[in-house]
Amino acid sequence: MEKEKNKCQRCGTCCRKGPPGLHREDKRLYEQGILQKEHLLTLRREELVRDNVMDRTIRLSEEMIRIRSKRHETACIFFDGKTSGCQIYEARPLECRVLECWDVNKIRRVYATDRLARSDLFSPDSAIKQIVDEHEEQCSYARVAELAVRIRANAEPDRPDLEGLAGMVGLDLGMRKSLQDRTGAENLVLEFLFGRSLFKTLPGFGLEVRETEEGYRFLKTDR
Ligand code: SF4
Repeated sequence: MEKEKNKCQRCGTCCRKGPPGLHREDKRLYEQGILQKEHLLTLRREELVRDNVMDRTIRLSEEMIRIRSKRHETACIFFDGKTSGCQIYEARPLECRVLECWDVNKIRRVYATDRLARSDLFSPDSAIKQIVDEHEEQCSYARVAELAVRIRANAEPDRPDLEGLAGMVGLDLGMRKSLQDRTGAENLVLEFLFGRSLFKTLPGFGLEVRETEEGYRFLKTDR
């Protein structure tokens, strides 16, 4: 007879499905150096993302930071596949502590509240905060979505829309490169500071970006 599940069997299924989002309560893990910039990924406001708890793609109403997945896998980077264990078990974040796979009500109550954002981690007058804010203003997903919808809807998209989106793609990449040149920041750190590049995320909005001699071009994709 199958055992009734009312406590964690340490099977690793949850950790394989995807890493947790972070909450303000998890800020101490960043301050203690347990979670470092290269362990984290920022998902920006209005970005299209897969929501594992609701099991669907959603547009984020607010920014969130989550632990990264392993390369080309959905599993959390701290998941040890050999032991099905967590490498930071004693310091695992809030969502991992409340997740009960046999009853998801508890995680549903906490997962969308008090989410950690970049502004919680940078001092308000720091140079990095100013750069991140400028990027957010110039490359917001609200504007990306607006342009992408119009470009997809028109057989012959308006030139200002195409130029506007191409400008944002160029600015997004330019700001990353500029910071990397000045500080030596690795790509993983840049994805924490600025989120994923528009080059990577535009296919979620139905547009693939191609770089040509004339500049950035957009191909409509099946979604
Ligand atoms: S932090 Fe640990 S418990 Fe949480 S998903 Fe990652 S491996 Fe699993």
